[in-house]
Amino acid sequence: MGELPLRAVVIGSGIGGSAAALLLQHAGVPTTLVEKNRRIGGSCSAYEKQGFQIDIGTHMFCRGPRGPLGAVLRRVGREGEIRFRRTRDIAEMRVVTQRPGSPQQELVCVPIPSEMHRMPRFLWDLGRALRLPPREVIRALRMLARALSMGEAELRRWDGRTVEEFVQRYTHHGPTLGVFGFLLGLYFILPYWEVSAGEALWCFQRMVRDGWLSYPLGGSIAVPGTYCRIARELGAVVRTGTGVRRILVESGSVRGVELTDGTVLPARIVVSTSSLRTTVLHLVGAQHFPTDYVDRARSVRGSYIAVQAKIGLRRPLVSAGALVGGVGEDIDLFRLSPGDLKEMFGALLQGRIPPVVPFYGPVPTNFDPTLAPPGCQLITVCAVAPTSDVALHDPAPAWEEAMLRALRRVVPGLEDNLLFVDRFSVDFIEKWIGKEFGPAVSTAQTPDQVGARRPTVYTPVRGLYLAGCNAGGRGVGTELAAASAMECVDRILADLGQPSLPAAHPALG
Ligand SMILES: Cc1cc2nc3c(=O)[nH]c(=O)nc-3n(C[C@H](O)[C@H](O)[C@H](O)COP(=O)(O)OP(=O)(O)OC[C@H]3O[C@@H](n4cnc5c(N)ncnc54)[C@H](O)[C@@H]3O)c2cc1C
Repeated sequence: MGELPLRAVVIGSGIGGSAAALLLQHAGVPTTLVEKNRRIGGSCSAYEKQGFQIDIGTHMFCRGPRGPLGAVLRRVGREGEIRFRRTRDIAEMRVVTQRPGSPQQELVCVPIPSEMHRMPRFLWDLGRALRLPPREVIRALRMLARALSMGEAELRRWDGRTVEEFVQRYTHHGPTLGVFGFLLGLYFILPYWEVSAGEALWCFQRMVRDGWLSYPLGGSIAVPGTYCRIARELGAVVRTGTGVRRILVESGSVRGVELTDGTVLPARIVVSTSSLRTTVLHLVGAQHFPTDYVDRARSVRGSYIAVQAKIGLRRPLVSAGALVGGVGEDIDLFRLSPGDLKEMFGALLQGRIPPVVPFYGPVPTNFDPTLAPPGCQLITVCAVAPTSDVALHDPAPAWEEAMLRALRRVVPGLEDNLLFVDRFSVDFIEKWIGKEFGPAVSTAQTPDQVGARRPTVYTPVRGLYLAGCNAGGRGVGTELAAASAMECVDRILADLGQPSLPAAHPALG
């Protein structure tokens, strides 16, 4: 790899970057992590307000210590340094519906339990709420049994097909399709007709097997914060507040990076956790890549993103770990047809607030009460919104207001107990994470962008690698980013002729 001394620069301190820096430093590669924001953490960063510690993103962690987030720690012999917590009910589904013939809308609440032995009751309650006929219940159960029993080879065959195609093998019943499609697609911040079935089912199987849908003590930032802390202890340098302006390339090989303050950091290895598009077109420059690679980077599709609100309450109003659901004006959500759902996303793509506002709202203080002053509660809620390449027909504040209106409908007493509401726009998130258009997952998990068709963690430029939600890995959001970081570091070590670090746990698979 040229005559430069061995040094790696990792761009970005989200989960992908902080995990890659930790693993590289642990493997003996001197590493500098460069973060443009003053605070580390990327999508999992945090801020303080009125005694609350608040996530910048909106997060739950599907596999907790058993998945890739724990595997990173196991690889460096520091298992257990992030402590994940579960709640009795993982979430509560709250939906405002209008029953046929009823003049009024009503609020339906269905708790989603964390313990397997309570699942039959949940499925029963869900079936009743959806008013499923018995034959549909049987079809849904057959579908779930199949989803959980597929082997690895079969899952791979489903990589190139969508969740919609999978569910339609079992049912064409609108509400069943909607609920299961929504549940399987939600994690990927895409509609279910765009999510790879192989990817979704792979994640679903592991989430059920591990039974660790959870949240860390200390908030989401505990994950990148712990990785950065251990990396520093091992000798890595973590620089914040100055970004990378350019990745320097000469004769097809990386030479280092130039920071926004003009400093040059020479390096033989650069790991970018920005999006593939931003890395190729803006940080390196298209001229350094083959044309077909540039075309791929240009055409890579990101997921949708979300508007968010952080809500401080003077007393607890929600007991589950999260709220999921939706509110539609004059619409029975449990009677939505697949056509209605497609119309909803069609509205999003035209920059219009959809007639139904689905939301997702983790309640961090139900996992870690120390994230708020005693007796208070924090709800972090988000609702899907288009990325910034879509021109908004409805102005940005109207999207945030629609989400809050939906939340007020499903959380009685919200207004009377408010301490504050902090709103986060798509523009803010785009600037914070530094990925063009601001997607939640920069290489979305569509059928043409997962498994064998996913961009690889290595690139045509020698010494330039990718980690995070841009390339490699499998899994949901944060876990995808950690899995990708492990894959990236394995590849770097192989290219350097070093053996890769042992995977001390089968969770990687
Ligand atoms: C609203 C929302 C909700 C989500 N919900 C979930 C969830 O519940 N569960 C889940 O698992 N996942 C969820 N995700 C997805 C998940 O957060 C991301 O996919 C994952 O964390 C991305 O990690 P990353 O390391 O790739 O990048 P990021 O966390 O985005 O970090 C990238 C970092 O790189 C830095 N950077 C960028 N460019 C430069 C530069 N030029 N120089 C220096 N630094 C730079 C940025 O400042 C940032 O800190 C959600 C995402 C969002 C936005």
